[in-house]
Amino acid sequence: MHDSRLFSVDQAGATLLIRGAHVLDPRTDLDEPQDVLIQNGRIAELGAPGSLPAPDDGEAVEAAGKHLFPAFVDPHVHLRTPGQEYKEDLDTGTAAAAAGGFCAVIAMPNTDPVVDDAPILRSLIESARSQARVPVGFLASITRGLEGNDLTEMANLHDVGALGFTDDGKPVVSAGVLLKALQYQRLCGGVIALHEEDPALSRDGVMHEGAVSARLGMAGIPSVSESTMVARDAALAGYENGRVHFQHLSCVESVEAVALAKEAGIRVSAEASPHHLTLTDDVVRTLDSRMKMNPPLRSDADRRALVEALRTGVIDCVATDHAPHALHEKEVPFEQAPMGTIGLETAFPALFTELVLPGELELGIVIERMTSGGALYGLPTPRIATGEPANVCLVDLDAKFEVGAEGYVSRSQNCCFYGRTLHGRVLITVAAGAVAFRARLLAEAGAVAS
Ligand SMILES: [Zn+2]
Ligand SMILES: [Zn+2]
Repeated sequence: MHDSRLFSVDQAGATLLIRGAHVLDPRTDLDEPQDVLIQNGRIAELGAPGSLPAPDDGEAVEAAGKHLFPAFVDPHVHLRTPGQEYKEDLDTGTAAAAAGGFCAVIAMPNTDPVVDDAPILRSLIESARSQARVPVGFLASITRGLEGNDLTEMANLHDVGALGFTDDGKPVVSAGVLLKALQYQRLCGGVIALHEEDPALSRDGVMHEGAVSARLGMAGIPSVSESTMVARDAALAGYENGRVHFQHLSCVESVEAVALAKEAGIRVSAEASPHHLTLTDDVVRTLDSRMKMNPPLRSDADRRALVEALRTGVIDCVATDHAPHALHEKEVPFEQAPMGTIGLETAFPALFTELVLPGELELGIVIERMTSGGALYGLPTPRIATGEPANVCLVDLDAKFEVGAEGYVSRSQNCCFYGRTLHGRVLITVAAGAVAFRARLLAEAGAVAS
């Protein structure tokens, strides 16, 4: 996407004709086969299938039977740079994003060092300009070193390019500190995003506290650890007329707290991850550390509440919380493994396979919620319409693949969907007008003809 607060390698705009794909964009009311001509990185023309001639200076992609969506935006990824490039970096993380159909991602600041001052953010932006394959936006931390005490220079960080602030990975435990951050937000702008948990309730829990944790004899993280903090911080946002975004909601109680806050007119928004929308703590029985994340996978009642909230809009968007970890870190007993799953390459196929195909959620809602995350931070939303910058992904909904069988584009492999057969393969991603991803099978099959 084109925005002065998104950063990537400068690339020439693509010229290509995507012929006859079923175009689905809930925002422009498009839901029919169309030819879509992209010229110099912009959507130049739409027309009935077969009506647009191949451009002289570009290529034509035969796409009948495939689907063309506005490309996805992920407001919550961990690219692990600076400091942990053995897990991921700007190049591999944004390549994984492009492979998943994303045209923009927002990176979290819990790196080493933490993105808590202007020079670190500036150098990260410079790195993105030379390495990022799709545009990246950055959040800075709320508190110095994520320590929960002293606020960062939020105004300065916002001026340099931070879209907002989060201590993600950790909650802001002190209500006083958050209140002060909300007061600064009034002066400097930017969304405050919150990873909600009360450490006094989470303690040393490693999974959802419920029947499964009791049977396994594992320390649990109760749902109230999250929901009490959501309720508290919604109240603080209301008191200061602040703007907060709740990250990775996992349970029914949090959904209820967000719904109440929205009804009261408080400026809150919320996200949910594909894994919380499709999996439950039942899969933790395998003791597979790929199933360990924070917040943990919860009960099926929680999962269903998240799906319903996504449908109604109480939850505004999907966010992967893409959290790469090295093999040696995850290949330890469940209790000792770090929390997190990668998710960029499987986000759409997981939601399509587990929710759309069984009829739990409409495809249009999934597309809407997978593209709305940037707007919550003030970024433009990808749209398929004449004159718009080209941010689209071409998907074969009939194509199946086994997750992990061909490896991952991400540098890490800790994917909670490993081994599952998912439907919906991304074939091409155009991000900010440039072709950021093209599936190998498509390139090899010669499906692209000039
Ligand atoms: Zn988090
Ligand atoms: Zn996170």
